[in-house]
Amino acid sequence: MPDGNGPVRMTDEIEDTIEQRKVRESVTQEVLRRDNFECQVHMMQVWLAVEWRGRLDPHHVAPVSRFPELRHDKANLLTVCRAHHDAIHGHPERARSLELLA
Ligand SMILES: [Zn+2]
Repeated sequence: MPDGNGPVRMTDEIEDTIEQRKVRESVTQEVLRRDNFECQVHMMQVWLAVEWRGRLDPHHVAPVSRFPELRHDKANLLTVCRAHHDAIHGHPERARSLELLA
């Protein structure tokens, strides 16, 4: 029987199953620990006009939209602060030139 009463699915995050979410959370923690809980863009000394802001998130260098299989690949993840995450996605060409985006 089709289930028409489920939540509206709008983002990948909502589509995550509980199992996927567990994997994502553990990968996130491993990546943050590997990167010493420091924004790697700040560590690269680029985009320093941008102030460290907000929580740290793993950034996908190869975008999940094009490379879904790399979603939980730690080699494809970089710890970044919220401000730099916004900068990377707001300036994709510059991010590509800095090898922060594939
Ligand atoms: Zn940063």
